[in-house]
Amino acid sequence: MSEQNQIVVLKKRSVGVPQPDDFELNTVPVADPGPGQLLCQAQYLTLDPYLRGKISGRHISGAIHPGDMMAGEVVSSVVVSNDPRFAVGDTIAAFSGWQTKPVIDGDAARKIETHGAPISTALGIMGMPGLTAYAGTLRLGQPEPGDRVLVSAAAGPVGSTVGQIARIKGAHPIGIAGSDEKCAWLKEQAGFADCINYKKEDLREGIARTCPDGVNMYFDNVGGDVLQAAMEHLALGARVVLCGLMAQYNRDDMPPGPNPAFIIKARATVRGLVVYDHEDLRGEFESVVGTWIRDGEIKFKEDIADGIERAPAAFCALMRGENFGKALVRLGA
Ligand code: NAP
Repeated sequence: MSEQNQIVVLKKRSVGVPQPDDFELNTVPVADPGPGQLLCQAQYLTLDPYLRGKISGRHISGAIHPGDMMAGEVVSSVVVSNDPRFAVGDTIAAFSGWQTKPVIDGDAARKIETHGAPISTALGIMGMPGLTAYAGTLRLGQPEPGDRVLVSAAAGPVGSTVGQIARIKGAHPIGIAGSDEKCAWLKEQAGFADCINYKKEDLREGIARTCPDGVNMYFDNVGGDVLQAAMEHLALGARVVLCGLMAQYNRDDMPPGPNPAFIIKARATVRGLVVYDHEDLRGEFESVVGTWIRDGEIKFKEDIADGIERAPAAFCALMRGENFGKALVRLGA
C-alpha cells in the first residue's frame, strides 16, 4: 500500500450547478491510526444530492466550507485495526469523506451486512437511499393494493426502490424520469406499471394518461413544477411524501409557492380538510362547544348588518376583510 492518501476538498462554494473546478484533489501522507482507530482502504464513495445542500450551507446535517474535505459515506476494507471489534479485511461503512485511505474511529464505523448483494449496495439500495425509500413508502406513504403510486426521480436509488416496494405491496408504480433509457429500465427491469419521460411528454398529460383516476400516493424527490403537476392530479385521500428537492438544490432563489423544504425539515404532516367529511362529529361538537359558551370558556364575536338591502355591501365588506366577527345580516326584528 502506498503511503499517500488522496483527498478531495471543496475549493470554492458552487454557484448553480457544481463545476469540477469547485473541487481540488490533494495528496497527503496517510495518517497513523491511534488507539481505537482503523486504517482503511476506501472501496466505494457515495455521491448524494444532499451534498449540494451542504455546500450551500442549507442542509440539516451541516455545511461543507471551502477548504474542507468533501463529506460522504464510504465503504472501506480494514487494513490496520486498533479496535478489537474489527479485524483486518473487514468491510465497513463510515462517513469518512472523499479520501482513499481514511483513518476511522472504530465507534464511527459499522460492519456492513448486504445479505449477499454486492458491497456497493451498502451505499444504495441497502443503505441510506434504500432506507429512505423503505421508511418513506411503508411508514409514510402506505401504498394499498391497486393504488397508483407516482414517483419522481424514479430511476435513482430512492425512487426506483419506492416504486418496487409499492409494486410488491400490490400497487401500480408510475415513474417520472428524464430519458427513454431510464423509463425502459423502470418498466422492463424494475416492474413499474408505466413511466413518463418528462423531457419528451408533457408531464401533466403523462400523469393524466397513467393515472386516469388520480394519484393515490405521490413520492416527491424533485419539488418545483413536478410537485405542482402531481398535486394537480391527486385522488381523494391521496398521500404525498415529500422527500427531496432536486429542482431547487442548485438554485439560490426559491421557486414560487410554499417551499416543501420547511415541511421536510419539520417532518410535518400536511392534510387536507373538508368539513363535510366530519358531519359525524356534529352532535358531539354542538354539545361540547355549547357548554364552553355557557361556561364562558369560549368567546365569539358577530358583525351584524341590518336589513336585506345591506346584504350586498356587508358581503363586499367581508371580502375586503372589513368584517370583525361572524358576518351576518339581521333580516327580522
Ligand atoms: P438520484 O435519483 O440518483 O439523482 C437525482 C435525479 O433527480 C437525477 O438523476 C434526475 O433524474 C432527477 N432530477 C429531476 N429534476 C432535476 C433537476 N431539476 N436537476 C437535477 N436532477 C433532477 O438521487 P437519489 O439519491 O435517489 O435521491 C433522490 C431524492 O431523494 C433527492 O432529492 C435526495 O435529496 C432525496 N433524499 C432525501 C432523503 C431524506 O431523508 N428526505 C434521503 C435520501 C435522499 P431524472 O431527470 O430522470 O428525473
